[in-house]
Formats: sequence, C-alpha cells, structure tokens
Amino acid sequence: MISLRNRLVLIYALFICLSVLLVGLIINQFAGKLFTDFVTENINSESREIINSITDQYDPGTKSFDVISVEAMGMYFVHRGYIISIEDTLGEIVWDARSCDMQQCAMVINEIADRMEREYSIGGGFQLIQYPLVYNDSPIGRLNIETYGPFFYSENEAAFLSGLNRFLLVAGITFVLLSVLVSILLAAGISKPILKAAEAARHIAGGELSARIPDSYTIRELHELSRSVNDLASALENGERWQKRLTSDIAHELRTPLTCLQGNIEAMIDGVWEPTAERLSSCYEEIRRLNKLVEDLNFLSILERDNLILHKTEFDLNKLLSSVVELFKPEALEKGIEITLVNSGKLMISGDYDRLTQVFINLVSNAIKYTDHGSVTVEAAASLNASEGYYCEVSVADTGIGMDGEELSHIFERFYRSDTSRNRNTGGAGIGLSIVQTIVKVHGGQILAESEKGRGSIFRVRLAREPD
Ligand code: ADP
Repeated sequence: MISLRNRLVLIYALFICLSVLLVGLIINQFAGKLFTDFVTENINSESREIINSITDQYDPGTKSFDVISVEAMGMYFVHRGYIISIEDTLGEIVWDARSCDMQQCAMVINEIADRMEREYSIGGGFQLIQYPLVYNDSPIGRLNIETYGPFFYSENEAAFLSGLNRFLLVAGITFVLLSVLVSILLAAGISKPILKAAEAARHIAGGELSARIPDSYTIRELHELSRSVNDLASALENGERWQKRLTSDIAHELRTPLTCLQGNIEAMIDGVWEPTAERLSSCYEEIRRLNKLVEDLNFLSILERDNLILHKTEFDLNKLLSSVVELFKPEALEKGIEITLVNSGKLMISGDYDRLTQVFINLVSNAIKYTDHGSVTVEAAASLNASEGYYCEVSVADTGIGMDGEELSHIFERFYRSDTSRNRNTGGAGIGLSIVQTIVKVHGGQILAESEKGRGSIFRVRLAREPD
C-alpha cells in the first residue's frame, strides 16, 4: 500500500513537472515567435541598408560604381551572411562576392546552413533576391542578395537564443527540484501528525491510556484529529479511573456492614446469641440499607455513565417543591421540626420533572436528617434582571448540625459522610449529594452549599429558565 506522504509527493511532483513543462513550452514558443519576427525584420532592414550603401557608391558623373568601396562593403556583408553581386543596367557584372573570394563565401554559406539546419532544424536554403538600384529616380543597375531563407540567425543571435533556452532549462529544473523539496516537506507535515495519531491510537488500544498527541497544530483538520484522539484517551482514562474507584469504593462500603452482618448471624447460628426479634430486625435494617446503597449506586451509574437522557417538560417549580415538602411533613412533625415552603407563585421552568423531584427529595431529606430542632425552609426565586442571565434559584435551608469548611469541601464526593453523620447512623451512604449534583449539572445548572458548624446549612440550586 502506498503511503499518504509518497502519494502526495508523487501527485505534487507530477503536477509541478507538467506545469513547468507546459509553461516552458509556451514561453519557448512565444519567445521563439517573437525572436523570429525580430530576426526577419532585422534581415529586411539589413537588406535595405545594403541597397542604400551600394547606391551611395554610384558616381553619376562617370555613371559607374566605386568598385574598391563596393568590394570592401561587399566582403563586410559576406561576413554578415549576405552574398551580394551588382549588375549595371546592361546586365554586366560590376562586382560579385563569389568571384572576389569564393572560399570565404563558401565558408559563410556552409556555416550558416549548418547552424540553421543542424541546431534549429529550419529546412531552408540560400535564396536569391534581386533589388533594382535607383539613383535620382533613374535605374543604375541591379543588386542580387543571396541569403539563407526564410530567415537565419547571426552568430550573436544564435548565442542569445541558446543562452535563453539554457536559462529556461536551468530555471525549470531548479523550480522542479525546489517544488519537489517543498512538496516532500509539505507531505511530511501532513502525514507525520496522522502517523502520530495512528500510533497514539494503537497505544491507547493496547491499554496505554495516558498516551497523548502534542496538540500544537495550526491546521484545523490536524488539530481536530489530535484533539479527538486525546479526548478519546481522556474519556477512556476517566472511565477506567471511574471503574477502579467505584470498585474500591463499593468494596470499602460493603465490607464493614457485611462483616458485621456475618458476625451477628454466625453468633446466632453458633448459639452465642439468641436470635431475638430485635437482633433479627437490626440485621434486616442493615440488609435494607445495603439494598438502598446498591440501588443508589445503580442510579448513579446510570446518571454518570450512560449520559442521562432528560425528559424535559415545562412545569411549575413551586408545585414540585410543594409536593416534596408535603412528602416530608410527617417526618418533620415526628422530629418536631417546622418545614415551610415560601411560595412565590407560579415559576415555570423546563426540565425533567422526575429527576428534579429526586434532587429536592435528597436535599430536603438531608436537611431533616441533620436537623434536630428548628426549621427547614424551602424557597424558590427567579432572577430579576437580564444582565445576570435568566435563572431561578431554589434554596433549602436548615438550622441543623451544619458543617465546617473541610466537611463542606467533600460533601459532593461519592461515599463521603462527615464523622458526625457516621456517628449519628443516619443510614445514608454518602451518595445522595453526588446524585443531586449530577442531575443539576445535566440540566446545565449549578449547586452551591454554605454551612456553619452547629448553626445550619443552606443548599442553593440554580436552574436556567426562559424569560417571562
Ligand atoms: P448521606 O446519604 O450520607 O446523607 P449525602 O451525599 O446526601 O449522603 O451527603 C453527604 C454528607 O454531607 C452527609 O453524610 C453529611 O455529612 C453532609 N450533609 C449533607 N447535607 C447536610 C445538611 N443539610 N446538614 C449537615 N450536613 C449535611
């Protein structure tokens, strides 16, 4: 299987090579055409210059040409690739380059024909063009110019053209090499993080949940990829930690009551203790507590692990609180505590009615459990201005045993019970407030607690609500 890096390099390199080739060909064609036009124009203007120079050598007095000057010029033109001959009006040859220096002419002809055919594959040949020579509107003879057609390059022009082609070739090769280098770096920049992510995922799959990818990428997709892998690892790590902690917490919570139960029942079986109704009911009470603990744990696990699905409806919060308070009135009456709901009228919110009922049952139940005398007050109030955001706050206040700062900082942890609470044997397992906090969080709300040892506590639950 071809790697992503190689594939990218191959595609880039192929694309760049083709582009350079195409651009090179276009430039070559375009520059070639321009240069040919330029050279053709040059040949025409040189031909005109030859005509003028030869005409200048005509002496109207003697009606003849200055042959010495014509010869000097003629040989100069031969060097430039123009083999000329001059005839007078009667057709008699006045001067002919070939007859003057046959060897030189043959050399120039061969050199130009060779250059044009071999190097530029221009299949032309030496062509003769005849121009009438005119002096003061009277014909004075004829000029024959033999030159390579349709056009030819002089030595300098050929050198310029081959220099230009060499430059294009070197520039093209340099550009291709640089582009391939850049594409290798670019492809490596993309494939490396993907390989790293794959390696991290392999480590994670192998159980190494602490594996992470350094997330410093500025490319959005790569940043997303590394973040997803890291999030996946964190989620798995949290899950594993949660599982380990839960197992050890459960083992710890179950060990003591089970050992105690085992001891009691063994003592009764061995006949050390009489199985009185009182002892049996104490054992039953312990079993009931264990059952409640398992139920709470199950509920908490549903909340924490299975992403609680809320069945949201619109309802009056005060109505919910009123039914919770009613539920606890007999218990409060039994303990001699006053329980009141400060009802501020209808307070509509959107939430899961059953789950929120569970929240306030736990809070009010705690308030009664940890209050020996005095009162428990439940109150719901809505935020008044938009700048604070729209929310409503339910407070559950009691005048009970309260907590110090240290206790307060742990109350939302699973299985946490203050020493006072343990000594009181309230029957709680320290899960109630964890459940409360989880439900409130799932609703996008907030729970806060304030307390003073010996004076009471107040729990505040803030829930978002639509403005009226
Ligand atoms: P529990 O089932 O033990 O009550 P919770 O999670 O509901 O478990 O509460 C955790 C601990 O927080 C309690 O054991 C108790 O120490 C403390 N606590 C909770 N509510 C109150 C309260 N209203 N007054 C005093 N202490 C409280």
